[in-house]
This record gives sequence, structure tokens and C-alpha cells, in this order.
Amino acid sequence: MGTLTTGTLTIGVDIGGTKVAAGVVDEQGTIVATAHRDTPAEDVSLIEGAIAAAVGELTSKYDVAAVGIGAAGFIDAQRATVMFAPNLAWRDEPLQASLQSRLELPVVVENDANAAAWAEVRFGAGRGADHVVAITVGTGIGGGIVLNGRLLRGQFGAAAEFGHVTVVPDGRPCGCGLRGCWEQYVSGHALVGEAHELARGRPDRAAELLGLAGGRPENITGAMITQAAHAGDAVALQCFDVIGTWLGRGLAGLAAVLDPGLFVIGGGVSAAGEMLRAPAVAAFAASLAGGGYRPLAELRIAQLGPEAGLVGAADLARISS
Ligand SMILES: [Zn+2]
Repeated sequence: MGTLTTGTLTIGVDIGGTKVAAGVVDEQGTIVATAHRDTPAEDVSLIEGAIAAAVGELTSKYDVAAVGIGAAGFIDAQRATVMFAPNLAWRDEPLQASLQSRLELPVVVENDANAAAWAEVRFGAGRGADHVVAITVGTGIGGGIVLNGRLLRGQFGAAAEFGHVTVVPDGRPCGCGLRGCWEQYVSGHALVGEAHELARGRPDRAAELLGLAGGRPENITGAMITQAAHAGDAVALQCFDVIGTWLGRGLAGLAAVLDPGLFVIGGGVSAAGEMLRAPAVAAFAASLAGGGYRPLAELRIAQLGPEAGLVGAADLARISS
């Protein structure tokens, strides 16, 4: 109330493993107000109760047209059912129907990485671009594809699950049961694994990093690697070089299929900025089929931060309602 907003308001909800974050978003992608609840991850009806409570707190103060839910997992192409959520109890959960009857508002359910990609294209690093592939590098790899200005969901709603594309045949084992998946080489987990190994092997080159970790390589975290790299630590910089190189190689594969004009790199690991982007650009150019004889897609770091999913879900709800 009292805040200057633009046009119709909608609510976006980001369902994390530990927190439900809901936000009222205006037509410029500005978050006007937020509400939070804990996520009772193991109980389906309690999760819905937490979503309804957070949304209800906002609808008691703001007049909104629709609600968009962003959830990690496989969402059906009708954007109604969560087929599978890795971190929550949802299995074939008809989330749209149950929330619509509870909230008495139109509801759409979106994959969280799709929602974040959409937000970057509408309001962030990809603003104005028509052919964008967004990659979220966090614990694993998420992604979203916007072609001809439209979000590509696929026949079954499961498009853009880039993390499990094989980049190394018979490579590192993955939680999905396969080997050599891209996210085993490009993720926060891969970054920390690289740092553990390099710092153990050459502690003399990791003085800054080991200082942050209390001298114990096993205590190194992703945030420490970013901080040490900014301070010029040789091992921390090498870690981003390795991860960035794998990132660029994978992007070349995606470019062969989708031919985007722009890749937007988001997620926690992207906080390293140019230290991640520069090796990715070099590896992308070197790995691209016909490289040197075709225009190169641009690589940009995402701009909207961890709220991208919430903003994107709200905007997609507005467009659908
Ligand atoms: Zn995998």
C-alpha cells in the first residue's frame, strides 16, 4: 500500500527446499511486497498450506490477478501437475487444481529454472533478445530456452534439463544414475570438488583459500573460492578456469542444437562474474562446430539474482491469465 506500481499485479511464488517465498510483482518486474513461510518438505498438504498462507498474507493487502508457482521439478506441459519434485514430497501432484480452489485465483505452475530464464529475458540480462538460452549454475544445472520470444516447454514440459546431457562418456557418476553428466563438471558441487583436490595437491598455491578454510581443504566452500579468487588466489582462479571451460564446451553443444543469440549464465556460481565468463567464452569459441565462420552467441551474466524465479513465475501468470 502506498507503493507506486505499474499495471496489473500478480504474485510469484518460489518453492525452495527450506523456504516458500511469495512476492507481489508489477508489470515492470518490480517486487512490491514479499511474504515467507518455512517449507514442510515431507508433507504434501502442509506445503500447500504454506503456499496458501504466504499468498493469503499478500492478497489481504494487494489486489492481484493471478498466481504463478515456480517449483524445482518436472511440471507437465499444461502447467497444472508437478510430476516429480526432487526435494519435495510431490509425485503426480495436481497443484494447480488444489491451489486454485484454495486461493480462488487463476494459478499456473512453472519449472523454477524456466521461470528464472523468462524473468532474465523480460527484465534482466536478456531484455529485448528473442533467442536466449539461460543456464542456472547452482547445486546442479538448471535452464530455460526462449525461442522466437516464447518459452520452450517441450511436448511433456521437461525441456531444458541441460544438467544431464552427457559431456564425458563414462565420466564422473551422477545422482541421476548416469555417468559424465554436464552438471558433474559445471556446478557449485563440481567447483568445490575441484578446489578440494587442487588445494590438497598444491597447498602453496592456495594460501588465501586455505586461510579462509582454517587450513583444512575439506572446509572449503563455494563462497570461499569466489572470495579467494577475487583476492588473486591461484588455485581459486584455476577452479573457475576449469569450471568455466566445461561450461563453454557444453554451451557449444547447446548452440549446435538451438542457435541462440545469447546465453545468460545465472545461479550462485555466476557470482564469480568475469572469472567464470572469460574461460567459458574461450572454450565456447574453440568448441563450436564451424567456429570462426559463423557469428558467435554472446555470453552474459544474469542480472536478477535469486529472485528471478519469483519474478518470472509472476510474469508468466500475468501473461496466462
Ligand atoms: Zn545426471
